[in-house]
Formats: sequence, structure tokens, C-alpha cells
Amino acid sequence: MFDSHCHLTDDRFAADLDEVLDRAWAAGLTGIVTIASSADDARAAFDIARRDPRIHSTAGVHPHEAGSVRPEHYDAIRELCTAPGIVAIGETGLDYHYDNSPRDTQRAVFQRQLEIAADTGLPVVVHSRSADQDTAAMIRDAHASGVLHCFAGGVDLFETAMVAGWFISFAGLITFRNFANVDLLRATPRDRLLLETDSPYLAPVPHRGRRNEPAWVVETCRAAADLRGEDAALLAATTTANARRFYGLDGVGST
Ligand SMILES: [Zn+2]
Ligand SMILES: [Zn+2]
Repeated sequence: MFDSHCHLTDDRFAADLDEVLDRAWAAGLTGIVTIASSADDARAAFDIARRDPRIHSTAGVHPHEAGSVRPEHYDAIRELCTAPGIVAIGETGLDYHYDNSPRDTQRAVFQRQLEIAADTGLPVVVHSRSADQDTAAMIRDAHASGVLHCFAGGVDLFETAMVAGWFISFAGLITFRNFANVDLLRATPRDRLLLETDSPYLAPVPHRGRRNEPAWVVETCRAAADLRGEDAALLAATTTANARRFYGLDGVGST
């Protein structure tokens, strides 16, 4: 099992991160990617990842933080990208639901990160909420591979991602009774499917409402297997292999 997207730098893990990680390994996880939300956070994520070869990290700016980006942050991200252990750019993207940063700023900051991904050859982790049309347009023009994380978009965005060769990642939302996107979960080709916790957010059933943690990706895998009519152990192995391939980890660190 592999948690392809979580936020180990979050304050809510500060007091007991070692125990959280122990539970993840005990649950059968073999890898975790901790995702950055800003240039400073990317440095903190890198420092956590350095502690264990099973943990990897990304460098990038979340759309919520796009309004506070300064030019030197792009330099810091590019610099971090040369370090071993940084496996992707992100998370970046567009969030028109919360609109925490102006939309034109979000697009500009997203575009810059797509360019860094293209330059470095790293894949890009994309957050898209209530922004299907603009996200799809930017993916179409991007020269990078990527994943739509915690996918909650519509069929047009899904198909754009498929044509571009991108991956689709599902989080704990799929364990909720009101999960609306079952058709697209089922339509995701087996070799393009990733699973994630997005912890500490979005704890899956039966932990809903609590602080989420990487170990609970097991619940999301079980739900995905049920909804797709597949064997859970096989899906765990497949999505683990997909995550390793997506992040370029084949032959790196432990398996
Ligand atoms: Zn996100
Ligand atoms: Zn995230």
C-alpha cells in the first residue's frame, strides 16, 4: 500500500509524527509522499522525507497560497528539485471554491509550476476544485505529466486528463455514502489509478471527522475495490506500483 498524497508537515502531526508513521508501516504501507503547500513547506517536507527512505516529498505552492508567492519562491522550488527525494512539483492548481487567492494569480502561479515541471521532467500534483474548465485548458497545454489529486471533477476534466496521459487519484471521499463520482472511479484505467489520504484532512469512514493519517489509506483502498468490483489486495499492489511509477521511484529506496 502506498499513500500517494498527505501533509506530514501539518501542525496536527507535530506532536506524534513518529507514532503516526509507525502505524502506517504496521498497516502495510511501503511508501508515503508528503506534499508541499508552499516554498517554506517544501523545505520542511524535505526534512521529514530525509529521515526515512520510504518517505518522499514534493516542492510547490498550493492555490490557497498563490497570493503570497514571491519570485524567490520559484528559485527555491527549482533549487529543491535538484535534491534527491523530491519526486514532484506541487501541489499546485486552481481552487475556485474557496478562492483564497485571486483567480488570475492562481492561474499564473499554476502556469509557472507547470513550466518548472516541464523543465525538470518531474510530474506535477494538481489540486482542482470548482475549476474544471480552466484546469483542463492548462493541462492540455502543459508539457508535463501529472495527477489530479483527490479527484472530484466532471467528465470533461477526466477525459482531458486521460488524453494527456495523466493519473487520477482518489481520497477518503470515496468512502462517504454521498460520494457522487462512482462512475469516474470505475472508469479510471487500472494503470492510471492512485490512492491517497490527503491527511490530515478528509478521514475515510469509519474514521470520518477525526484527524486523518497515512495508515487509513487502507480504508480508501477497500472502498475503491468494492466500488470497482476488484480484489482489495490486488488493487493495493496495483496502486502501489502505479504510485512508484508516477513518482519515478522504481529502483529507488525500499520497495
Ligand atoms: Zn489538494
Ligand atoms: Zn493535499
